[in-house]
Amino acid sequence: MSQTLQSVRGMNDILPDEAEFWELFEDTVRSWLKAYGYRPIRMPIVEPTPLFKRAIGEVTDIVEKEMYSFEDSLNGEQLTLRPEGTAGCVRALIQHSLAAQQPRRLYYMGPMFRHERPQKGRYRQFHQVGVEAFGFAGPDVDAEMILMGARLWADLGLDGIELQINSLGQPDERAQHRAALIAYFEGHVDILDDDAKRRLHTNPLRILDTKNPALQAMCAAAPKLIDYLGAESLAHFEGVQRVLKDAGVPFTINPRLVRGLDYYNLTVFEWVTDKLGAQGTVCAGGRYDGLVGQLGGKSTPACGFAMGVERLVALIRESGGEPQAAAPDVYLVHQGDAASRLAFRVAEGLRDQGLNVLLHCGGGSFKSQMKKADASGATFAVVIGDDEAATGEAQLKALREEGIEQRKLKVDDLAEAIIGQLIDSDEEE
Ligand code: ATP
Ligand code: MG
Repeated sequence: MSQTLQSVRGMNDILPDEAEFWELFEDTVRSWLKAYGYRPIRMPIVEPTPLFKRAIGEVTDIVEKEMYSFEDSLNGEQLTLRPEGTAGCVRALIQHSLAAQQPRRLYYMGPMFRHERPQKGRYRQFHQVGVEAFGFAGPDVDAEMILMGARLWADLGLDGIELQINSLGQPDERAQHRAALIAYFEGHVDILDDDAKRRLHTNPLRILDTKNPALQAMCAAAPKLIDYLGAESLAHFEGVQRVLKDAGVPFTINPRLVRGLDYYNLTVFEWVTDKLGAQGTVCAGGRYDGLVGQLGGKSTPACGFAMGVERLVALIRESGGEPQAAAPDVYLVHQGDAASRLAFRVAEGLRDQGLNVLLHCGGGSFKSQMKKADASGATFAVVIGDDEAATGEAQLKALREEGIEQRKLKVDDLAEAIIGQLIDSDEEE
């Protein structure tokens, strides 16, 4: 017996009922990004593996165990399905000298791939909206990016998404903190798990990012990076906080917010909800001033964030958001050769006037077609039989409202009658 094929574990089909919420989300996101002057960029989904190793860092969850990497069987090149978008965006920026003349505000949306254990809010193919700004060194752009989040949650009708911020300082400050951290963890080596032991000397900061509950209390008492920041880093951090306070956006400083990627410095932030269970971070980002230089470009300050689309769509559904009704304005019923030919012309004519039309396909009796018209949720049925076709007319029948007589109209008068009726019922509401 042949086995039916299934999608890859952790990689989901987004079916129409769900996908309409995605489109609602994407439409809102696009107009929100325009309001802040961000422009679209689209990068490939596959990139050379070394890009991610260099950008994200060798000793990170993503690079150590989450990447879908493979060898191109034709030329032996090492390739990876992108686990995030910043690395590819920076590669494109450098490759096309995008930041040479002017600062850039860019965004992208699309699938990312990480080999994680699938669970609610955590998938192997998931989707992000990524937002990146290049060429701005001051705290203003960090703060604006955070304010953008607050506006988007409002635009989407979401509340209860809380803001956490932290500063990771500069590499030299992190080096001092790192030494203190290693000493501290060495004092607790008996309770460290294998991951933590392995990272103790390679990337101790990452231990703070652990999801192991047994380490939480010990991590909470670890030396705090913020105590190692110099005057400049502190001033940058305070600059961000000042804008947030002026804008009335509440936040908490979370000293354990270190982010799972190596490229961040100074400001980092996360937006977190408690409505999604364990996978509560819906948006995360920060400054990464070193990355462009590190990937071979001219040193360029940068800041960005990424949102998890699955998690935000889940929140929208949870909070009762509704996508635009997908029901058509008109369902076009027709029977007979002449009627069918006229029906195509009528359907296109109505669409020319901006109406959404479902043209019945597949034949069948008037009765069965009318059933489908009803089930489609359409506001009107337009019915054309050969009698109507002979005189260039059609029957217009309201499907959702009582008390409106079915009318026979010239096909050229249909659009006006339908649009007039749609406006009338809008006004009654
Ligand atoms: P987490 O701590 O949840 O693993 P992360 O720090 O690895 O998140 P980022 O790399 O910062 O996540 O990605 C930004 C956002 O993308 C996350 O805040 C989350 O909303 C979403 N995201 C990340 N990984 C996944 C995944 N496997 N499935 C669904 N969404 C994800
Ligand atoms: Mg992760």
